[in-house]
Amino acid sequence: MIKKILIANRGEISLRIQKTCRKLGIQTVAVYSDADKDSPFVKEADFSYYLGPPEPSRSYLVIPNILKAISETGADAVHPGYGFLSEKAEFARELSKAGISFLGPKPETVDLMGDKIRSRAAMEKAGVPVVPGYEGDSQEPNVLLKEAEKIGFPVMIKASAGGGGKGMKRVFSKEEFLPSLESAQREAGNAFGDSRVFLEKYIINPRHIEVQVFGDTSGNVIHLFERECSIQRRHQKVVEESPAPNLSPEIKKKICDVAVKAASSIGYIGAGTVEFILGEDGAFYFLEMNTRLQVEHPVTESVTGFDLVEWQIRIAEGVSLEKLTGGKSPSQSGHAIEVRLYAEDPENEFLPSIGKIELAKFPEIQNIRVDSGVVTGSEVSLYYDPMLAKLIGIGKNRDEARKNLISGLEETIIFGPTTNLNYLKAILEHSEFINGNTNTHFLEKHKIEWEESGEEKEALMKTASFLANRTVKASSIWDVVGPQGIWGELS
Ligand code: ADP
Repeated sequence: MIKKILIANRGEISLRIQKTCRKLGIQTVAVYSDADKDSPFVKEADFSYYLGPPEPSRSYLVIPNILKAISETGADAVHPGYGFLSEKAEFARELSKAGISFLGPKPETVDLMGDKIRSRAAMEKAGVPVVPGYEGDSQEPNVLLKEAEKIGFPVMIKASAGGGGKGMKRVFSKEEFLPSLESAQREAGNAFGDSRVFLEKYIINPRHIEVQVFGDTSGNVIHLFERECSIQRRHQKVVEESPAPNLSPEIKKKICDVAVKAASSIGYIGAGTVEFILGEDGAFYFLEMNTRLQVEHPVTESVTGFDLVEWQIRIAEGVSLEKLTGGKSPSQSGHAIEVRLYAEDPENEFLPSIGKIELAKFPEIQNIRVDSGVVTGSEVSLYYDPMLAKLIGIGKNRDEARKNLISGLEETIIFGPTTNLNYLKAILEHSEFINGNTNTHFLEKHKIEWEESGEEKEALMKTASFLANRTVKASSIWDVVGPQGIWGELS
């Protein structure tokens, strides 16, 4: 039995994992950098351990320091969250050497799936459809150009070690190919220390559909249905939902079954996500497998009723999937939509917006789940991903979930850094979104018109209503705001 889990991560995902640990009576250890010393995830954990300076390369990514934290705090398992060390096989290997349980798959699996060239080959061998392309040994520009011509333009150049859309280039013609190749290789080398690339046919107007899978230590693999993640900006997900809208039951069944086949073929253990790209013709192809918990796991939890972090812990303890499901086939009921609330400026090319959060207020209403990492007074720094929170709208059907989520966004207040809140609301209100007509070009193709955030008047109005809800009576906004201004009142 696992008694104490060290969470090798920060922010909302650390808090999310702590919640399940608390429910299961497992103690938690948070690790933190200088930038996070006052963060809620540090305060709420049972124990905390200081790692080092704010830069991840000097704190959250330093394996020896995390190992030291484990031995000094007596943790017997590690949850890596997502990002940071979650897909570093070396970390999983070091933990296994130290006899510490890693809440993720075997190191070999992490290695195999972390290398897109090798994973494509493994999937092809297992009979899982992959996007037509080239993943041969040669990295010679002229060989790659010939292969690109064979595939037929447009093609996608992708980094083998890729992630987060880095090192990925769309190439429409032969003339563009060599310069794009050079830049993709350079970007991949800089970002991942591995400049190898491979080629894929560019699928026109695709949808991104992924399947949540779980494997236990006895070799059983099941799926917990699909998630639709087509609404993306620069290949990064912005809105995610389950079930996928307008997906025929036949394709849905096929895609979920293929995901199970993919995970079974590599003896997958724990939580994983098999990502697919679905073409307009209904053909779908394996993109990659993420060997960890995903940011968007709450939508799956909302429609299946299972706690995926609990499953990760139980599976590491050797509990079977049969026991976790109660011997029944999991079912998907209702609908859930998640949006990622970012401290970024939609008016200014979505540049991260940093600084102190003067006021953070999240909705506390039924059918809205909020997974947040910040509170009033938190600092958004340049060191980490500026995601502030995930809001998940839940409903009996898609439209109800969507409307609930809009209400949730309307009740959310963030003063300080600029956020994408109104942009997210505008996406949910767009007629094509309402119709469920999503593909990965949604945000480029449709004009999303949002109200500017941070307008002083709007801010004051919201503050006034916030204070009014707290039974402060005032005859005008200025009575509420008072001489010291809104921040003085609230912080
Ligand atoms: P990363 O690991 O960098 O996130 P993925 O392979 O998961 O890269 O792809 C991210 C996104 O890029 C996909 O969700 C999709 O929108 C787009 N994409 C990837 N491959 C293709 C392709 N062959 N054709 C069209 N779009 C693609």
